Amino acid sequence: MHKTSAIFLSPGARSWLLRWSLVSRAVLVLALLFGLTITTADAQSPRWWKGNLHTHSFWSDGDDYPEMIVEWYVNAGYDFLGLSDHNIMLTGEKWTEVTTNRTRVTAFEKYLSRHGPTWVEVKEQNGKKLVRLKTLEEFRPLFEKPGKFLLVPCEEISAQFEKSPIHINASNLREFIPPQGGNSVGEVLQNNIDAVLEQRRRTGQPMVPHINHPNFIWALTAEDIMLVRGEKFFEIYNGHPVTKDHGDENHVSMERMWDIVLTRRLGELGLEVIWGTAVDDSHSYHTFKVGQPNPGRGWIMVRARQLTPERLIAAMEAGDFYASTGVRLKDVQKTGRRISLEVDPEPGLTYTTQFIGTRKGYDSTSRPVLDKDGKPMRATRRYSKDIGTVLAEVKGTRTSYTLKGDEIYVRAKVTSSRPKVNPAFEGDQECAWVQPLVLERNTVKP
Ligand SMILES: [Zn+2]
Ligand SMILES: [Zn+2]
Repeated sequence: MHKTSAIFLSPGARSWLLRWSLVSRAVLVLALLFGLTITTADAQSPRWWKGNLHTHSFWSDGDDYPEMIVEWYVNAGYDFLGLSDHNIMLTGEKWTEVTTNRTRVTAFEKYLSRHGPTWVEVKEQNGKKLVRLKTLEEFRPLFEKPGKFLLVPCEEISAQFEKSPIHINASNLREFIPPQGGNSVGEVLQNNIDAVLEQRRRTGQPMVPHINHPNFIWALTAEDIMLVRGEKFFEIYNGHPVTKDHGDENHVSMERMWDIVLTRRLGELGLEVIWGTAVDDSHSYHTFKVGQPNPGRGWIMVRARQLTPERLIAAMEAGDFYASTGVRLKDVQKTGRRISLEVDPEPGLTYTTQFIGTRKGYDSTSRPVLDKDGKPMRATRRYSKDIGTVLAEVKGTRTSYTLKGDEIYVRAKVTSSRPKVNPAFEGDQECAWVQPLVLERNTVKP
């Protein structure tokens, strides 16, 4: 029909029609291209990004070169990584000795064979062989790719009070922060958190502190953590075997600590929620076995549109992430009355979800833990079973919990039927911890 009718048009009209059609097509193509650019820049749909923000290298007490460690994480499918050495950032000139022990010799041989003599900088000094450690700025171009892999500048600010190590990880830091002191555990904790918050305010760069391994040398109690201000994260899982994640007869597990902290902050103290994070705290990269602080044990999955520190931090602060030691989730939804999730299942595995929380009107009494002589110990007090109680337990890959209305918060923990390979703690199963849904009307306002 079209072909036939075009035959009857005059030559002038036909040429005008042709020109008009070319112009309009060009406009259409441009509009489409422009539209697509806008779409990819602003409206990329959110996805989960896998990362670990607590890692050590030769810059402090880890046993490998940073490039080798980063490559391990890239190959293991991580999207972002923070190298967080003790009281140092990966800047400036630093040399490490090669030949003090067998591990160092092995590490050097592997490093040299991977990166070659042009990249690896060696010198002799007083009969010792030294290697210059590359700075973050030097090695990040080897690994970083927009939307594929990101390195986050970090430091583990490692302070102490008397014999208690008080460690705070600072992620996306711009400048080094020396460990801050204070007159009590609580004061040291707060002073170090405040130092990170002060740098954030001053520089305008998003950065976050998180409290590390509270059970390391039993340094921190739930009562210490529940009082902190301006802090949104603490480790409920740490892959270093000395961090005693599960506690002992006198000390609560880090997960139980989380419930005590959440209940008292939200239900009594009028303070904001604290999210739970999982990290490797890896130090050891050559021998993989139980008892070694190896990489690959605990991480977070952050839901963001783009792989940038700004987007990741914003999502983390909003609680749009989960902690994991192996269980992958496709989706997590939290609405006013409902928390639901969908596991990304692996063949042959089964999954159990526990919905855990505290209801209003809980028994808030507590008593101190006593030592052999009947004296109070420095340990989290003993609280009632009302705190962090299992509200429901559901099997399957799609689970949800509808709030009855008296819950202060509800969080979810998914446990897989598969035991963790190379666990930090014998007997661990693969898990995922979903951040709590807080029922605002049941919380205390400051
Ligand atoms: Zn530490
Ligand atoms: Zn550490």
